[in-house]
Amino acid sequence: MNLKNSKFYKRIQELRRFSKEKIRKDRDQRTSVRLDMALSEQRPGHDSDLEWSSSPRRHISPRRRIKKTKTKKKSAGTRLTAGKDTVCSSPADGELQADDGIQSYIQLNDKCYRLSCTRQLAGKDSRVDASSTSEAKSAICVSNSRYAMIGKISKTLGYKLVKETKLWNILWSDSFPGVELFKNMKRFQQINHFPGMIEICRKDLLSRNLNRMFKVYPHDYKIFPKTWMLPADYGDAMNYALTHKRTFILKPDSGAQGRGIWLTNDLKTIGANERLICQTYVHRPLLIDGYKFDLRVYTLITSVDPLRIFVYNEGLARFATNKYVEPTPGNTTDLYMHLTNYSVNKRNSHYELCDNDDCGSKRKLSAINNWMSRHNYDVKEFWTNVDDVIIKTVLSAWPVLKHNYHACFPGHDKIQACFEILGFDILVDWKLKPYILEVNHSPSFHTNEQVDREVKRPLIRDTLSLVSAVLADKRQIMREDRKRVKQRLLKTKGESLQRPRANGGSSIGKPKIDVQPEDELDSLAQQIAWEDSHMGNFRRIMPPVDATKAEYYSQFYGQTNQVSIFAETAASKKREDLARKMRLQIEEKKAKQELMLNGRNKTDKRKRQVVLLPRAVREKNRVQLYRLQEHWVPGFISDAEERLRHTWLQMRSEAIRSLRITESVYATLYEAGNLSNTDMTVYPHLYQHLQNGFDIKQHI
Ligand code: ADP
Repeated sequence: MNLKNSKFYKRIQELRRFSKEKIRKDRDQRTSVRLDMALSEQRPGHDSDLEWSSSPRRHISPRRRIKKTKTKKKSAGTRLTAGKDTVCSSPADGELQADDGIQSYIQLNDKCYRLSCTRQLAGKDSRVDASSTSEAKSAICVSNSRYAMIGKISKTLGYKLVKETKLWNILWSDSFPGVELFKNMKRFQQINHFPGMIEICRKDLLSRNLNRMFKVYPHDYKIFPKTWMLPADYGDAMNYALTHKRTFILKPDSGAQGRGIWLTNDLKTIGANERLICQTYVHRPLLIDGYKFDLRVYTLITSVDPLRIFVYNEGLARFATNKYVEPTPGNTTDLYMHLTNYSVNKRNSHYELCDNDDCGSKRKLSAINNWMSRHNYDVKEFWTNVDDVIIKTVLSAWPVLKHNYHACFPGHDKIQACFEILGFDILVDWKLKPYILEVNHSPSFHTNEQVDREVKRPLIRDTLSLVSAVLADKRQIMREDRKRVKQRLLKTKGESLQRPRANGGSSIGKPKIDVQPEDELDSLAQQIAWEDSHMGNFRRIMPPVDATKAEYYSQFYGQTNQVSIFAETAASKKREDLARKMRLQIEEKKAKQELMLNGRNKTDKRKRQVVLLPRAVREKNRVQLYRLQEHWVPGFISDAEERLRHTWLQMRSEAIRSLRITESVYATLYEAGNLSNTDMTVYPHLYQHLQNGFDIKQHI
């Protein structure tokens, strides 16, 4: 029978045609995303005098190293050109209005490009509507977040709330997810954390990165108070303390909410083995109404390669609740004066709740800006400096962030796999110089006060509107993935479908996907256009709008410098030495214990001899033996351990005394006639009482 003539075959063919038709229709619908843009290479002396192409300090990202001579691939709605002196081309479609507004710079490969973005606007609708980009509703999973507000806002924005097991577009989690989750993410999915962001979100890692950058760029990286990581930097900190009369603030290396923080003028009080972050105390902070405060600046990162950072124009200022006085030995313990944490100050009865902008222990950044303007401070310059601190802090971890991202998401070509809201804690001194204190990867979204609601709700809404999840067509990507899997299965053995990727980054278990670089750049262009047209109350600080700044920051990406950043420092060597020493001690101890155990079992004769010796003599011999060993060092006992041991000893003595255990044992031995001469001389009063016929087991 000829199969091709069968009814069944014809039906299958018909269905196929139908499905192809539908796919084409779907694709055509997606072309309604009218984003038209050009990435034009900035020529030397074109807009500025800077020699872009000849700059020795370049950020080279092999992932984006694409031959520019390749023929431009036609892509619906998005035009990407990187040729010589290319300017943004206007939309081909004459019916649409064009709006050239977005001009900025972006660093790709070893070149800095000027980005001109033209949005094509259908009719009066000036925004690219999320619903027009994808037929299906985007899904968000918020089950790993304790903040109900995120789910509520997502709903109002048209997101569907789904469980983690479903095919979500966005996963919003309060904690860092495991590598497994990153590994299994689909190309249309986004998560609200970047792998490796811990590099700036843990105090010790942040200090390490900033200290390294400070060594390489001492003039540019004066953005944080002098910091030492104890015990490795103990010597350096002590040397500094000897030559500078300063107050120091000590923090646990991975603490939060002001826990375990204290101030001291005397570093000698710190044990040489305690794990702490030691920092010079900013003793003249900017005061408002006599109170110290710090700023919580919300920052959104939407991509690490290329780096894209947005800062929210509204945020919080958290105030201390006791009036500030410079540290003296008498006031260093007053945490309500020196710490500005909400979690600390809310316990103070002076904590002020206020609906007015210019009062209260928590205020909006706009209120601080108004205060600064009233007091003739240059608000614009101040925020430029804050932006600088934020950019430099992120850049200090950039090589790790970039590496981790490419390792975790080798195939994420449509949209970025991650975005992240970071809470930067900034302290301002009396000269209006901002210092970075800490970066929070999961800033609190609790809305206890009116001011919280006014800041955090719009922040979440603007973030969800800005992220590019809606640009990925879930169905189309799944279809493409299924097709690829099928093709891979059908390919003959040994033949590979995979295009070797230029980035060379190790992927963690994911099959590499054949992606056209032009497609990738088109998607990136779409994302950039989307973000720049959906900023809400965010401002973009990276890439900077200004070419001079873009050039300035490009030096911190430099590969040659990164080598020196990761080169061994004196502190890292010390840390390694310390770890090696401790490891050796543990191994030695173990070996000795084993030796003793084996020795005991082997020589029965010696054992009998040892048993025959009195206990005190045996103990004395043992200690002498240890001391004779050249390399013997007393085991490390921490102060806390020692204090605990003392407490237990006291409790034991107390119990022995109150239960009259010594007296009972003594009386029993006396009655049995087993008292030795030593017992009589050591406890003469007990012996006397027994001789006189008293019952020493009872109180005498
Ligand atoms: P935590 O993570 O426990 O909140 P921080 O580093 O943010 O620790 O410090 C808590 C508070 O201590 C800050 O909000 C700030 O008020 C104060 N503080 C921290 N470091 C310094 C410093 N170097 N100089 C002055 N005040 C500081």
